[in-house]
Amino acid sequence: MPIFQDLKGKNIANFQKMIDEKKNTIRKYYDEIGHLYYGQYKDVNVDMTKDINARCESISNLYAEIEDLNVKILRERGLKKCAVCATENNLSNAFCFKCGARFDDSDAVPADVIAPPNASATPSRNSVSTESYAAAEPVAADDIEAPAAEETAAEGTEE
Ligand SMILES: [Zn+2]
Repeated sequence: MPIFQDLKGKNIANFQKMIDEKKNTIRKYYDEIGHLYYGQYKDVNVDMTKDINARCESISNLYAEIEDLNVKILRERGLKKCAVCATENNLSNAFCFKCGARFDDSDAVPADVIAPPNASATPSRNSVSTESYAAAEPVAADDIEAPAAEETAAEGTEE
């Protein structure tokens, strides 16, 4: 029935949304790494290595989580990817139909036996401090200091 199909579509959309969020977080980390590196370049006495490495680690974790989500999406569609040639196969295949590689996960499980997305998929955003580098942008001092308007009370001096 369509209900089952809808659920699948919903799951896939959910996974896709999680992937998009993780990609955004990755982009943010790359941006921060750039700032940190620049801060180090500007001041040789500063060591940003720890902060940079923390973000690199987070990025690696996010990529792994995205890969997991991609596998889940494939499973929802009744597919799995060959580890050798990356060809998409039916979940029930014991061997890759293209290159013949064996699927060691012996994935003869029906597609609906899938663990629900767990909380571990949440990116550890808070594990990285964002305040450890000063914003390197110079404050643009606008010289919009308009000359003080003359307050000539030239009128209305009535008694
Ligand atoms: Zn293959």
